[in-house]
Amino acid sequence: MFADSKGLNEECGVFGIWGHPDAVQITYYGLHSLQHRGQEGAGIVATDGNSLKGTRGEGLVNDVFNKSNLASLPGHNAIGHVKYGGADKGGLENVQPLLFHSSSGSLALAQNGNLINAFDLKHQLEMQGSIFQSTSDTEVLAHLIKRSGYLATKDKVKNALSMVKGAYALVLLTEDEMIIALDPNGLRPLSIGKVGDSYCVSSETCAFDLIGAEFVRDVEPGELIIINDEGLHAEPFALSTSRAMCSMEYVYFSRPDSDIQGINIHTARKNLGKMLAKEVDISADVVTGVPDSSISAAIGFAETMGIPYEMGLIKNRYVGRTFIKPSQELREQGVKMKLSPVRKVVEGKRVIMVDDSIVRGTTSKRIVKMLKEAGATEVHVCISSPPMKHPCFYGIDVSSHEELMASTHSVPEMCKIIGADTLTFLSVEGMLEVIGRKGYGDNCGQCAACFTGEYPTEIYPDTLLPYEKEMSRP
Ligand code: SF4
Repeated sequence: MFADSKGLNEECGVFGIWGHPDAVQITYYGLHSLQHRGQEGAGIVATDGNSLKGTRGEGLVNDVFNKSNLASLPGHNAIGHVKYGGADKGGLENVQPLLFHSSSGSLALAQNGNLINAFDLKHQLEMQGSIFQSTSDTEVLAHLIKRSGYLATKDKVKNALSMVKGAYALVLLTEDEMIIALDPNGLRPLSIGKVGDSYCVSSETCAFDLIGAEFVRDVEPGELIIINDEGLHAEPFALSTSRAMCSMEYVYFSRPDSDIQGINIHTARKNLGKMLAKEVDISADVVTGVPDSSISAAIGFAETMGIPYEMGLIKNRYVGRTFIKPSQELREQGVKMKLSPVRKVVEGKRVIMVDDSIVRGTTSKRIVKMLKEAGATEVHVCISSPPMKHPCFYGIDVSSHEELMASTHSVPEMCKIIGADTLTFLSVEGMLEVIGRKGYGDNCGQCAACFTGEYPTEIYPDTLLPYEKEMSRP
């Protein structure tokens, strides 16, 4: 499904490379392949060992970078970031990497994920005289690193990380080294690769294929990795870890050609579709998926059901972002511009429409209507993930129950609202059987909090609301 209409958006993607003559260009290409993780802004910071220089801007990677601004970045070492930012977290000042200069050296930070105690920490820092130039929680982390009394950067980072809670896949650059860290739950994906003799790091392995890097390994929860001219050194920084990879990375966020923890995303989605097919009892003439992220699940579903998979919906690839404030009417038009039913495929047929998730339900409603208007006699909606009932505080922009249809409605109510003949969700158990791992306890090494309400970290009910307000202050 297309991210902008579903109302579910990943916050970012990070990339970095150390010790390559084409570090900046490679980072540019790396960010290109992570574009699906954030389309609101992008930036690159590079170093030649003497200073750090950066360029960043709002928009797509192609809009932000050009020959001239890339050529202005010196050095063999670079980090980059693509950002998703809703209206409340936009603005150039929030586009990463954030770059700081001081007499003791420079520091650039790029982060994927949200710190859930950033509001408290920011408040404390402000009380002690800190001034912030962005509303990003990554800046809180930068302050904690800079204020630490330790001498070595890695010790400063470890000290800062001991104070923050939540989700972070972090890439940090100084004149001397690149430091990578993943939160103790490993909520966001982060992998190490190698191009020739140079190590690189990426939110997703799809970036490695584009730049010709070989996959080395995934970063472990609670692990700190230092990459410099001497090579790669890894050490744990967290006292305890408990693996809880975001399940939605498999269901929806990541690219089908990426592998997370050894599982290919397309294969995982196909298997989610297969599992869903085992859990439903519906007969129909054709199965169709909602492009793009639901196609793999629809193929697996159709295969197991023994019903032909057909392209009942096509996506118009050339629709840019709309800058018109969407009225209800325009929003409807927007969906029609992005998706079209293939009349000859669905006309007179009982259609099973497989989608990956339902957030607010508005898109599902429009697609069901579209299929029925194109002549489908029945539309059965099958969702390859469980009902999303709880907010995510770890970097996905659904942070209140009110935004989630499944939080306030039963499945039969949802079915009625979206106008489907039936509505079926995959069970939590079914999802975890497909993407979970044995030996990691009840959660199978996965975070499924938006489905179950069982969060892998402490949650700060009193601080989350002001945090949201504070962090969104323009
Ligand atoms: S709450 Fe849901 S979206 Fe957020 S990290 Fe967990 S599984 Fe992913």
